[in-house]
Amino acid sequence: MKTSYDVVIVGTGIAGLHCALNLPKHLSVLLVAKDYAWECNTFYAQGGVAVAKDEADIALHVSDTLHAGAGHCVKEAVDVLCSEGPKAIASLIKRGFCFDSDEKGDLLYTKEAAHSTHRILHAGGDATGRHIHLFMMQHLPFPILYNTQVTDLLMHENTCYGVRVLHAGDIINLYGKKVVIASGGVGSLYEYHTNARTISADMQGMCLSHSIELADMEMMQFHPTAFVLGTAVRKQLLSESLRGEGAKVVDDEGRRFVFDYHPDGELAPRDVVSRAIFDYKQKSGKEVYLDVSDFEESHFQKRFPSIYFNMKNIGYNLPSERIPISPAFHYSMGGIRTTMNGEVLHVKHLYAIGEAAHTGVHGANRLASNSLLEGLVFSYRAALDIQATLSNASSVISFSEKEAILICEGDKILKNELRHLMWCHAGIVRNEQNLQFARKRVKEMLELPIGKLLRLRLLVSQEIIQSALKRKASLGAHFIQKRS
Ligand SMILES: Cc1cc2nc3c(=O)[nH]c(=O)nc-3n(C[C@H](O)[C@H](O)[C@H](O)COP(=O)(O)OP(=O)(O)OC[C@H]3O[C@@H](n4cnc5c(N)ncnc54)[C@H](O)[C@@H]3O)c2cc1C
Repeated sequence: MKTSYDVVIVGTGIAGLHCALNLPKHLSVLLVAKDYAWECNTFYAQGGVAVAKDEADIALHVSDTLHAGAGHCVKEAVDVLCSEGPKAIASLIKRGFCFDSDEKGDLLYTKEAAHSTHRILHAGGDATGRHIHLFMMQHLPFPILYNTQVTDLLMHENTCYGVRVLHAGDIINLYGKKVVIASGGVGSLYEYHTNARTISADMQGMCLSHSIELADMEMMQFHPTAFVLGTAVRKQLLSESLRGEGAKVVDDEGRRFVFDYHPDGELAPRDVVSRAIFDYKQKSGKEVYLDVSDFEESHFQKRFPSIYFNMKNIGYNLPSERIPISPAFHYSMGGIRTTMNGEVLHVKHLYAIGEAAHTGVHGANRLASNSLLEGLVFSYRAALDIQATLSNASSVISFSEKEAILICEGDKILKNELRHLMWCHAGIVRNEQNLQFARKRVKEMLELPIGKLLRLRLLVSQEIIQSALKRKASLGAHFIQKRS
């Protein structure tokens, strides 16, 4: 098996695939996926990709993004995202990708919460991520090593030389002149989440263990409308576009209580809607539903085919039946700190892009549908930077293939305890006491004889908790409950 490459990319979501698509074909590039290539958040993305519709909309897209981010965004990153977004979308369309359009061939744009205009492109109705993923996989000129879990970064004196992987039961070192982390967010740290099962914060944990800086890890986004009653680990998301196009959040009696919390009701920023549902459920003891009964059935089935069929399989007839909902963990605004070209700060030849990265583009709260766009824009920039600097790469040094024990007996029980702990104590609504409790328990777990993979999850959880403890006042998705 070949073990030395020009570029090794960890992850086959939109960020990893799009980076690869923008690298010259003559380079030797390997992509690594923990599971099947499609077991990633990109594949499950429903609503669409936000993009400025025309030149005039760029400034508005910037201001919507800054507003949703609660003043915590890095303005330069937002400018890059919104001004380079249209070019990224045009290039995807030029390659042959089809977004949904009307009979005349004009692109159809929808609206989502906190966008001041219709600017969300979608594909296959509510299957945008699946369509983009399939398209990119069909055009990928490089190989993917499937069912391969990265277990460490090969680091020496602030330089990255590759990754260590578990592949078919063996530990192997894969060397790359450039290494790209495109491994997504941290979903599996939480009891209720919408993320793919492969998304468990491994790479963020490895960064911490090599003293590589993460930023804004207290900024965790919870999606307001997920169906969490099923037994599946990944909870069924009910896209923001449903509310954008008229779905209502109601209680048992059909009352639209979100207006008690915000004048925009269901279309308030998602952190506001999430907290409203969480708070209302706790205080009233009532069940909360998403009511889609205003949709005409044939239109609903055409516009939201995945949700229609997934919910039918679970036993709900849409749009006539209301769906019981709860917020669930959805997206990590925090991540591995990078420059605007995806270079990981203070580490040579290592990049991070997509949800794993922190450019500051989302601030304290991601604007809906900005993350697929982030995946496109920043991966392209990283690909250009890689090409421009590849010849400067250091000569390869050799690393041992020794790896710590990855999984110990008892880890699964602790992993589930951790998910519950994070959901209850470092979730939607936080307070000092709960966070201190979580901090203490995570520290205790870290002192137990545990496997490396659980240790990585614990390190990231610890980082989330410590960042949350440091930020004393509420901001965006980070909400601190005041003592009554
Ligand atoms: C249900 C759902 C709906 C969403 N809807 C939208 C939407 O409509 N619009 C929008 O903009 N955003 C949406 N998002 C968010 C968006 O999908 C993600 O932020 C984005 O797809 C992340 O892309 P990525 O390439 O960074 O990571 P991912 O697509 O998550 O890919 C991560 C990859 O890394 C691999 N990986 C992880 N760890 C390892 C490891 N240790 N070793 C090897 N490989 C590893 C995984 O196998 C996977 O291939 C949604 C998210 C979810 C969960």
